[in-house]
Amino acid sequence: MQRTRVVVVGAGVVGLSTAVCIAEALPYCSVTVLADRFTPDTTSDIAAGIVLGGAPIPNIPLQQQHRWFKDTFDHLLEIARSQQASEAGVNLSSGWQIFREVPSERRPFWADDVLGFRMMTDAELKAFPQHKFGQAFTTVKCECLFYLPWLEKRTVDR
Ligand SMILES: Cc1cc2nc3c(=O)[nH]c(=O)nc-3n(C[C@H](O)[C@H](O)[C@H](O)COP(=O)(O)OP(=O)(O)OC[C@H]3O[C@@H](n4cnc5c(N)ncnc54)[C@H](O)[C@@H]3O)c2cc1C
Repeated sequence: MQRTRVVVVGAGVVGLSTAVCIAEALPYCSVTVLADRFTPDTTSDIAAGIVLGGAPIPNIPLQQQHRWFKDTFDHLLEIARSQQASEAGVNLSSGWQIFREVPSERRPFWADDVLGFRMMTDAELKAFPQHKFGQAFTTVKCECLFYLPWLEKRTVDR
């Protein structure tokens, strides 16, 4: 039987993730990635890669944005906790997000998805005199200079 051929255009984090998902979900397909730039020359290669929600995007239901965030976070957390973590460049990263003005949403919609979310204490904020508010949490950092070759390998291996 002839294999179904699928072409994914784009070899940044979105294209390669899509190619891996299709290849894993539909093993009878052959997946080809077409792009004019591959790692290390895509925009994705220069992303800081920190999984961090911002303010909600207008016109998209918050429930849907929350699901996207949670699915992404849980997927990457599983990699960060696996033996693949260093090869894939996916690791836990703890830090602060500081604000010059108190945001309207002090507790963002993704607060329960990251690990150990809390507001920064006044003592911690003293280190940043120009900032009035801060959040502390642990999230996942996905270093694309490692992550993209790791995804590429998973498409090539099939
Ligand atoms: C400095 C910086 C820091 C960032 N930090 C973060 C961060 O901390 N966290 C975060 O979530 N996001 C961050 N981002 C955003 C993130 O980099 C992008 O959202 C993400 O890389 C987009 O991925 P992509 O696969 O859609 O696009 P790209 O990585 O741009 O890939 C696009 C692909 O499509 C191909 N392509 C495009 N047009 C054509 C065409 N006509 N023909 C053939 N091929 C084509 C390109 O060659 C490339 O392979 C940051 C971005 C920048 C610039």
